[in-house]
Amino acid sequence: MRKDFLPFARPSIGEDAIQDIAESIRSGWITTGPKTLAFEKEFARVVDAPYALAVNSATAGLHLALMALGIGQGDEVVTTPMTFAATVNTILFTGARPVLADIDRRTLNIRPEAIEAAITPHTKAIVPVHFAGRPCRMEEILEIARKHRLAVIEDAAHAMGASWSGGPVGRTPASERRICVFSFHPTKNITTGEGGMVCTGDEEAAEAVSVMRQHGMSKGAWNRYAATGTPHYDIVVPGLKYNMLDIQAAIGLSQLRELDRFNARRRDLVAAYRRAFDGLPGLILPPEPEAGTVHSWHIFTPLIDTGALTIDRDRFMALMREQNIGTALHYQAVHLYTYYRKTLGWKPGDFPEAEYVSERIVSLPLFPAMTDDDLADAADATKRVLAAHRAR
Ligand SMILES: *Cc1c(COP(=O)(O)O)cnc(C)c1O
Repeated sequence: MRKDFLPFARPSIGEDAIQDIAESIRSGWITTGPKTLAFEKEFARVVDAPYALAVNSATAGLHLALMALGIGQGDEVVTTPMTFAATVNTILFTGARPVLADIDRRTLNIRPEAIEAAITPHTKAIVPVHFAGRPCRMEEILEIARKHRLAVIEDAAHAMGASWSGGPVGRTPASERRICVFSFHPTKNITTGEGGMVCTGDEEAAEAVSVMRQHGMSKGAWNRYAATGTPHYDIVVPGLKYNMLDIQAAIGLSQLRELDRFNARRRDLVAAYRRAFDGLPGLILPPEPEAGTVHSWHIFTPLIDTGALTIDRDRFMALMREQNIGTALHYQAVHLYTYYRKTLGWKPGDFPEAEYVSERIVSLPLFPAMTDDDLADAADATKRVLAAHRAR
C-alpha cells in the first residue's frame, strides 16, 4: 500500500509566480493594478474573448454576470442539478428563481431538450455547466436561447482550455447576450489562489461587471491613485467588492503560461486511467470527448457501478482513504440540499438522471504534478477495492 497520502488534487505553482508575488508586495501595489490588467489582457487573448474581467472568485463572477444581464426578482434561470451550490446560490442572490433541467447520465451535462421543457414566460437565462471540462451541446443551447430571447451564462469553472465548434470556451461574440465565467480556485485547471474571470463580447455587460465589481465606482482605484489618475469618482450603481488582487494575478499570469502543459498532462493521466481500468467490472468510465471538442479534464469522474458491487460509493471512498488515496465528490445533486428543498420545494425523484449519477460518482486523483507512480497507486487501489467487493 502507498505510504503517504495522495490527495485528489494539488495546485502546481511555479517559482516564477512566487517571485512575481514578492515583486508585487515589494512594489507597494498589492490590490488590483498593472498585473491584473496584464492578466486580463493575456486571458482574453488565450480564450479569444472581447472582454475579460478579473474577479475574486467564480461565485462573484456568476453573481455579477447575472446582475449585468438584468436578472432579478420575478425571473427564472434554468441550470443543471449536477453542479456546485454556487451556481444556484448566485441565482438566488439576485432574487431570481433557479429552475433545474436534468442531465445526460453519460456526459453529466444538462440536456438541451430538458432546458426547452423548463422554459416558461418568466425564463430570462440559461446557465449551462461544462461538467468536468466536457463542453455542453452549445449549438443547441444557443439556438434555444435565440428562439426564446434568453441570455446564456456559461459556468466554465471546469472548462479552462476546453473547446467546441464555436471555438475555445470563453469565446463570446459581440452579437450574443452571453457571458462565460471561469474559476481559479486551487483545485481548478489554473489557479490564482482564489479568483475568477468573466468573459463576454457584450460591451454593456462588460461595463456593468467592471463597475459593479468595485463598489459601483465609475473608476477603479488604479485610476485614482496612480500617477496619471484623477482623485474624483462617482457612484453610478450600488456595487460590490469583487475585484482581483495583483498578487493573485501574478500567479494567474504564470499559470496561463503553463496551461497547455498542465492540460496535456491531465489528458495523459486520463488515458492512463482508461488503460488501467479497461474492461474492469464495477466502474463506468466517462465517455471519450465528443468529436470536434476538446475536454479540459478538470476532474476524472467514473461512476461506481453499485449494482455489480456489495458496497456503495461512500464506502468505496472510505476504503480508498484507507489505501491512502484521496477522492472527492463532485457533486451531490444540488436539488437534494436542505435549503433548496425547504425553500424551493425540490425533492428526491425530481431529477432522476442527476440522482443516479449523484449516488455513484467519484472523483479520482487528477492533477498535473501527479506522477506515473501516483497514477498506478490510485488505479491499483481502485482495482483492489472493487475486486474485494464484487457482487456474485
Ligand atoms: C468551483 C466552482 C464554482 C465556484 O468557483 P469559485 O471560484 O470557488 O467561486 C462554481 N461552479 C462550479 C461548477 C465550480 O466547480
